[in-house]
Amino acid sequence: MLVDYHVHALGHAHREHSLEELIPFLDVALKRNLQEIGFADHDRYLDSLNFNLYKELQELYPKINIRVGLEIDYYPGKLEEIKKIRTSHPFDYVIGSVHYIDEWMFDADKEKQRFEEWDIDELYTRYLSLVIEAANTGLFPLIGHLDLLKIFGNRPKKSIAETFNPYLRDLEKTGVVIELNTNGWYKPINELYPAPELLELCFQANLPITLSSDAHHAEQVGRDVDKALAIAKKAGYTKIATFGNGKVNYINV
Ligand SMILES: [Zn+2]
Ligand SMILES: [Zn+2]
Repeated sequence: MLVDYHVHALGHAHREHSLEELIPFLDVALKRNLQEIGFADHDRYLDSLNFNLYKELQELYPKINIRVGLEIDYYPGKLEEIKKIRTSHPFDYVIGSVHYIDEWMFDADKEKQRFEEWDIDELYTRYLSLVIEAANTGLFPLIGHLDLLKIFGNRPKKSIAETFNPYLRDLEKTGVVIELNTNGWYKPINELYPAPELLELCFQANLPITLSSDAHHAEQVGRDVDKALAIAKKAGYTKIATFGNGKVNYINV
């Protein structure tokens, strides 16, 4: 079973939220044999979303389950705002993503020189602490792109195991699901988030997974999720998580 829970209908406000703009996303989802598609736009565009469109879209595409989520930026101090966002609509799920370290949007191309200001291992510690903090809020059933910090090729000096293992058990305790986000293959790092080596550690730590493309354009919907699933199976996974009505289910793959 193939799914994609991380689709940005609006991209980075590239387009209007309309049925006409959404239809190509569903056509691609069907072409790539997805059984579920989850729309999760960035929370900063919340006011531009018309959730009624998804009901209309579901009627037009009865063969695929359409889920509605949101990708919420996590940073300390935003908790009250996040709670408000979370309850502003009966979302099927939301994604908690760390894109910021303090005011620095570290995954933005124009800000990438700021990596030089850091000891990379310290930066990984700082980043992973924020990921754990996000997971511990209990507000996010799904955590976005676990090793996003590598986007421009900045890997830790320590091994992957040394860097991530201290956090994976804590993450498991929170009950969050990790996404296999195929967009990493289209970034300078050219690697799945999380890296296959990290995914094996996630499996050992008993962390559940799901599949996502992080599509910002229709043609990217479900891109390479089959390839990601094959890597997950190789790591030992036999189930993926699905999200609906605020609940998480696990299905055999
Ligand atoms: Zn993201
Ligand atoms: Zn995203």
